[in-house]
Amino acid sequence: GGNCCKILYLASLRSFWHISDLHWDYTYKLGDDPSLVCSSSGRRPAEGAGKFGHYVCDSPWELINSSIYAMKNILEHPDFIVWTGDDTPHVPNEDLGEEKVLFIIEGLTQIIKQLFPKTKVYSALGNHDYHPKSQLPAEQNNIYNKVGDLWKDWMEPSSQDNFQKGGYYTERLLNRPGFRVLVLNTNLYYDQNSVTENMQDPANQLQWMDDVLSKAVLNNEKVYIIGHIPPGVFEKKRNKAWFRPHFNKRYLELIQKHHCVIMGQFFGHHHTDSFRMFYSDENPVSTIFLTPGVTPWKTTLPGVDDGANNPGIRIFEYDSETLLVKDMITFYFNLTHANNARARWEKEYRLTEAFHVPDASPASMHRIMENMAGDSCILQKYYEFNSVSYDRKPCNAGCRINHICAIREVDFEMYKHCVETGDTSPTVEGAIWLLVLSAVSEIVIPSL
Ligand SMILES: [Zn+2]
Ligand SMILES: [Zn+2]
Repeated sequence: GGNCCKILYLASLRSFWHISDLHWDYTYKLGDDPSLVCSSSGRRPAEGAGKFGHYVCDSPWELINSSIYAMKNILEHPDFIVWTGDDTPHVPNEDLGEEKVLFIIEGLTQIIKQLFPKTKVYSALGNHDYHPKSQLPAEQNNIYNKVGDLWKDWMEPSSQDNFQKGGYYTERLLNRPGFRVLVLNTNLYYDQNSVTENMQDPANQLQWMDDVLSKAVLNNEKVYIIGHIPPGVFEKKRNKAWFRPHFNKRYLELIQKHHCVIMGQFFGHHHTDSFRMFYSDENPVSTIFLTPGVTPWKTTLPGVDDGANNPGIRIFEYDSETLLVKDMITFYFNLTHANNARARWEKEYRLTEAFHVPDASPASMHRIMENMAGDSCILQKYYEFNSVSYDRKPCNAGCRINHICAIREVDFEMYKHCVETGDTSPTVEGAIWLLVLSAVSEIVIPSL
């Protein structure tokens, strides 16, 4: 009878894990000198460091281990795992080397395989998964080859082949007809990557992406996109972007062109919990979900104040028939409490509960952003989640502009305009009107 639909609906509600930025610091060691606890602190003192880590350090093994076991305890049989890279510690290149980078990637791969032996993992390379860091080449090399071998159980043979050539691949999601995943190597677009500096389309990834997505449109497939470095601007530092401008533009255009098949984009690199909106004709059409890092490492980016975070891991709930993202649950690890009392991974929040939206669709994410812009309590709630409940300072007007403009404007020019006008008001029309007003400010404006 009437319950049929309900049962069908529940049957298609499935889950997957997303983890990012584990940054294993194998040098972490408790001792007498706080400045020598870990190399990733760069001599910043790790006062009161405990066995699960410290906010100026990358993850000790105890924290990595705890996070993967937490995944197993909370949800042992996800449909798949999304793992978006950055495995090595923030240390000078001289302290690493190809061997060490590969040793670290292998160590993390092993523990995930050990605890999730039958689970498919879609794994993207981060800018720290190469030596020298961020210099990922647009061609086959020893690291792509070795990592492709480490991850071969998680890929189709043709995917392994593609991965070893350019660090990216596509295949059917869980081998189901009509469903597809793209694992990207967006490190090729990073402005710190001098190897790809003068290239128009490194490793032909953009052309390939256009082709794959065009075919997906023809075949009526549903697609998830996975990558490490996201396009757009960092929300914690004004005007801090990662992509070179022409790559940012191309990426944005590709999403706008093919948005009808792209059901979700999953990225890391920020170590923070945020999202990015894509619009077409002013309608929200796609979202990048930025999943927080496992590492609590306080960033050394100049201009970021107290940029640490608590370790976080995330479950996405999705409709396996449509790939609509229905909800997300973020779990966090209070590092101070873990070191002082007991290690505990707790639910931090469920998106639909915390922000009173029906799902995590682009329309709902757009609604959350507008509510943040208009209501300081909702903004504050988002802001505390942004650092995985580490930074609970009030998010003031400048902070609001940084976050709302970064979320709303992936395009660099639009972002610049957003922060310059300080206009985080809901509609694009409103923003254009303000621009007109500022341009003609000397002229007397007739009453409306
Ligand atoms: Zn990272
Ligand atoms: Zn990164």
